[in-house]
Amino acid sequence: MGGAGHGVHFLDACFLCRRPLAGNRDIFMYRGDMAFCSDECRSAQMAADEAAERKATKAVTHGALLAREAAEGTQQERGKVRAGSVLAL
Ligand SMILES: [Zn+2]
Repeated sequence: MGGAGHGVHFLDACFLCRRPLAGNRDIFMYRGDMAFCSDECRSAQMAADEAAERKATKAVTHGALLAREAAEGTQQERGKVRAGSVLAL
């Protein structure tokens, strides 16, 4: 973060095909910080992002499942300990 004065580079060229956007009247913005020369370029980037997000979500879900399985095993043991201390009280 920081870097004052460097924040306009992303508007210099199309995020996808790198065509210069200077003088281009129609700049298509996406996610507030990506600029595209055309709706086609933006749509292509959106599709790519969606595909990447789906992959990422799958990976996260798979990882979360493994983590939960591990956590549940730990929780069960903790639950036993807790139940025991409750009984002792
Ligand atoms: Zn483009």
